[in-house]
Amino acid sequence: MVIKPKVRGFICTNAHPVGCAKSVENQIAYVKSKNVADKAALAGPKNVLVIGSSTGYGLASRITSAFGFGAKTLGICFEKEPSERKTGTAGWYNTAAFHDQAKAQGLYAETLNGDAFSDEMKHAAIKKIKDDLGQVDLVIYSLASPRRTDPDTGEVFKSTLKPVGQAYTTKTYDTDKDKVHEITLEPANQEEIDNTVKVMGGEDWERWLFMLGEAGVLADEAKTTAYTYIGKELTWPIYGQATIGLAKEDLDRAAASIIEKLKDKKVSANVSSLKALVTQASSAIPVMPLYISLIYKVMKEEGTHEGCIEQIEGLFTERLYAQNPPVDDMNRYHMEEKETNDGTQAKIKSLWDQVTQENFHDLSDYAGYHQEFLNLFGFEIQGVDYEADVNPIVNWS
Ligand code: NAD
Repeated sequence: MVIKPKVRGFICTNAHPVGCAKSVENQIAYVKSKNVADKAALAGPKNVLVIGSSTGYGLASRITSAFGFGAKTLGICFEKEPSERKTGTAGWYNTAAFHDQAKAQGLYAETLNGDAFSDEMKHAAIKKIKDDLGQVDLVIYSLASPRRTDPDTGEVFKSTLKPVGQAYTTKTYDTDKDKVHEITLEPANQEEIDNTVKVMGGEDWERWLFMLGEAGVLADEAKTTAYTYIGKELTWPIYGQATIGLAKEDLDRAAASIIEKLKDKKVSANVSSLKALVTQASSAIPVMPLYISLIYKVMKEEGTHEGCIEQIEGLFTERLYAQNPPVDDMNRYHMEEKETNDGTQAKIKSLWDQVTQENFHDLSDYAGYHQEFLNLFGFEIQGVDYEADVNPIVNWS
């Protein structure tokens, strides 16, 4: 079939297998060009478990582990398989391409597709590690999900993207209607806050690490990190100090609890704060498309624009596998300074104050935002023939 993007609101409901493969290849080429293993002061990871491995920051972590350090990788993701009539999800095709490329280089790559929040998936991963790898020395936690089924009770919790304390009125950009307008977001009630913490907080990260530790599949001095976005004043009311931010704060509690519980193994657990960029997760957050379109404009002008792979390559070489890397008072790594420094934020704030329906496309880099959004699904990638008839059925090797 000839596959063209089907965009509905903040989501694209199909994906292009050849485009996704090309995008994975581009990220691999980037990592290979960086001599990652030489840049890192410490010996890199050998056996890596990536939870949320198929898109965004998790995929970039998997690519950096495998193609930067030659690590064996086990991925966990939740993706839809293609059929004759319907394409698979982008994460499905990304994973297929990753497997092909890794195996062509003789690198171990296996992926379990299913609900990472479930204990069944955790047991399946433990078995796979025991059978194939023995132990893992790095666990990346990069899930982004709107809901979680509690493995103890079966109760389904849904996350909410709302301010906390008081209503918040701000500008937003509706990508569907091409409209800049004001929105008022009503504050979350306590149940909505608690439910968001249940989904996106640290409970599941802890559960993974405790179960891996108990099963004996964590190497001594294993590292683990979970990703967060902290941001600055412009996004605090809807992110940093909102329901999702409170959930992310719970990651700090979980990191301390992982270190304490697994102290005999000397496991290190750090939350890593990354920059805002276009992924399937961030495009669903109100205000983020406007904010990201503006930071892309400013950061491209400053020459500091980065995508997932640049951020993660930096995280691995300058923090995770660096000698005495800088951490904040909560033991977190920070990779977002190029976005959140005062000078850059002041420029973004000035654009934010000026932006209207009329000048939005001049003041922002929405074109860049939109292009990257389509790229997530394998569309508008350079070198791909989008008129060609392609087979949507792609299997994982
Ligand atoms: P993403 O949507 O690109 O990736 C999410 C991954 O989680 C995918 O691999 C998906 O298959 C997997 N997943 C979702 N639900 C699952 C489930 N139930 N079981 C198994 N796998 C599941 O998201 P992303 O933007 O790369 O976000 C990853 C992490 O990085 C999140 O914690 C997010 O908060 C954080 N982060 C994102 C940004 C940003 O701007 N995008 C910035 C900083 C931090």
